[in-house]
Amino acid sequence: MKVTFPHMGNTFIGAKVLMEDLGNEVILPPKCSKKTLEIGTKHSPETICLPLKINIGNYVESIEKGADTILITGSCGPCRFGFYSLMEKEILKDLGYDVDIIVFDPPDGRPMELLRRIMKAADTKNVYRILRSIVRGGKILEKVDNLIEYSNKIRAKAFNSFKVDTIIDNFYEEVRNVHGMEETSKLIKETRTKLDNVKIDQNKKTLKVGIVGEIYTIIEPFANLYVERKLGHLGVEVDKALKPSSWVKHHLLPGPFGSGEEKRKWKEAAPYLSTLVGGHGRETIGSSIIYAKENYDGIIQILPLTCMPEIVAESILPTIQKDYNIPIMTLIVDEMTGEAGYQTRLEAFVDLLWKRWEEDNHEELLSGS
Ligand code: SF4
Repeated sequence: MKVTFPHMGNTFIGAKVLMEDLGNEVILPPKCSKKTLEIGTKHSPETICLPLKINIGNYVESIEKGADTILITGSCGPCRFGFYSLMEKEILKDLGYDVDIIVFDPPDGRPMELLRRIMKAADTKNVYRILRSIVRGGKILEKVDNLIEYSNKIRAKAFNSFKVDTIIDNFYEEVRNVHGMEETSKLIKETRTKLDNVKIDQNKKTLKVGIVGEIYTIIEPFANLYVERKLGHLGVEVDKALKPSSWVKHHLLPGPFGSGEEKRKWKEAAPYLSTLVGGHGRETIGSSIIYAKENYDGIIQILPLTCMPEIVAESILPTIQKDYNIPIMTLIVDEMTGEAGYQTRLEAFVDLLWKRWEEDNHEELLSGS
């Protein structure tokens, strides 16, 4: 069995460690690129949201590298993600690809069916081994997320912020060639040391921006046109409301421990949006309020064109902006998004945030302190 899965930010690193730990061969899709998107756009319905198009591109590129089994997560939520696995199966069938697709649907009262699928994907019936590997994969994912979070902080203060990009690019290249938990952990540690050695300006004033919105576009850098880097180069520290490791905690460790963060978001969102609208629409509202309460300078919502849950959230955000006096900008992405226009909007937003900061700190600036 040669397994593959679609890209979604750092998820591939945790999934790779998990599957390799179980002794499976993993065929990673090449890094998402224009070619990936072209393939996906060509074979997907025109009006479907961006993540499905990129997924299809990932599958085709992986199958061409020899993958014969695709692992994907399912959903029963009220947005198109609930149909993703069915549509993706049909598209690949129409393209003539003979691959096995294993879908991890939420248990929904049938936990044994989910377990059977996990055993099939893991190619073992040893539940202890599977659980151990899931924990190990989850730990790696958390370490990588922390590493990237750290790089975002360093980039905003670095004398040469592009050096951080080079270190992270090298990490993503090298992580494809290491295997298992130990080698991956070692590489993460080495990369952290390289980041520690980047010269930073401790006195540099930076802005703080929270990123909210549709999970895939927040997490996958190709889909959000590397927004963290672009903002980092403008002296902005970025925090993302959703990360692969927090998604895993929320979905695999339900209850008071795993989903405490989500529960707080729902509670904050309740006065504005108290029901599930699919995807992470409710979390977008809750996270925005949390960022405002934590004195962030601004918030950016990112969503794919036609994303239903985020359109609902977008209609509420102007009220949050007014009630909490915090600038919020929405960016919509699809296969037609142009990099230059995107960069211009980010620069204009950051200029506005600096202007507000200067006005709020007028006295301090005059006294030169
Ligand atoms: S959350 Fe939005 S982008 Fe994601 S699958 Fe649902 S509709 Fe599509």
